[in-house]
Formats: sequence, C-alpha cells, structure tokens
Amino acid sequence: MKYDIRRHVDRHFARFMSHIDTEHPTAEGCWLWKSEVNSRGYGMFYADGHRMAAHRVMWSIENDKFIPDGLFVLHRCPNPACCHPDHLYLARRVFTPGKPTRFEEMPEWALYRYKAQQKKIGL
Ligand SMILES: [Zn+2]
Repeated sequence: MKYDIRRHVDRHFARFMSHIDTEHPTAEGCWLWKSEVNSRGYGMFYADGHRMAAHRVMWSIENDKFIPDGLFVLHRCPNPACCHPDHLYLARRVFTPGKPTRFEEMPEWALYRYKAQQKKIGL
C-alpha cells in the first residue's frame, strides 16, 4: 500500500504549511519552500518515515487526489521550490518514437481512466 498523505493530513498539515513562505510571495506569486530542497531544487517533506516532494504533497492535498506512480506534478512557474497550488498541474509523460519525450497536462478526471488502465495491464 502506497503512502497517501491525505489520510494523515490532520497530523501533518500545520507542519507542512509552516515550511512554505505564503507571506512573501515572489514576483511571480510563488510560495517558496523554506526547508530542505533536493539537488534539482524541489522541496522535500518528511512524514511518517516517507520522503516526498513538497509540490506533489500540495497538489494531492489541494485536489484531494492520490497521485499514482508514473504521473507528474509540474510547475507553471519557473520555481521548482514553489508550492502555490495554482502553479501546479498534473501531467503524464508522452513518448513518441523519434521525438523528444514531452509532458502533457492531464485533466483530473483522466486519473480514473489512468488507474483503470494500469490495473488492466497489471502495473
Ligand atoms: Zn510558483
């Protein structure tokens, strides 16, 4: 069973938000993560022994959806450390032979279809 932060949000939300600077947004309106970031600049959050990307935690809580493996939460802004919910969107990676891999925004309803497909192909 994958760790689902939404099930533990009551215990962790205040601490999670305390790492985000909502009082001093950047010029782009970004809320930057004030705590540990990884080598690529993404905020890292720890809960119950799990290490998670902060922007994924924010998207999951804000949209009340679990993010299955293989899907991405991308930024509309240029700041990997940003956790502003309006700057985040769900995406999937699209492989086209002979072309560079690209990301495609995924509507939330497509999550259900995605989960069903993964089940069917046994992932
Ligand atoms: Zn931002």
